[in-house]
Amino acid sequence: MESFRVLVVDDEEDFIDTMVRRLRSKGLPSEGVTRGQDALKMLDDHDFDVCILDVKMPGMDGIQTLREMKKKKPLMEVIMLTGHGSVESGIQGLQLGAYNYVMKPVPFDELLQQLVNAYERKRIEEDRIGK
Ligand SMILES: [Mg+2]
Repeated sequence: MESFRVLVVDDEEDFIDTMVRRLRSKGLPSEGVTRGQDALKMLDDHDFDVCILDVKMPGMDGIQTLREMKKKKPLMEVIMLTGHGSVESGIQGLQLGAYNYVMKPVPFDELLQQLVNAYERKRIEEDRIGK
């Protein structure tokens, strides 16, 4: 599998720790943050190919974070994480340019496949605009 960089944004630290560890074990350089604001700061200094973004977070929620992310890094693909009560936010995310949304709890292999697909779309888009 080709390597790409992943940013995980979720207010549940256990989720981030597990996810980052598993992604790194697959050879994917990954970082995790628990707040939307921290994610945006991270993007000022680092490039990521794909972001996993929780919809429900205290402070800046996933939708607000997505809007700002797309201003900073329009080519970074974003996969929204929704719960049973937040599917509508996932759909709203798609309208704002997210690649897809998945419902928690999502099996790791399924999320990994989504990440690979999202990265593929980023590559195609970069080729298209000659980047
Ligand atoms: Mg949450």
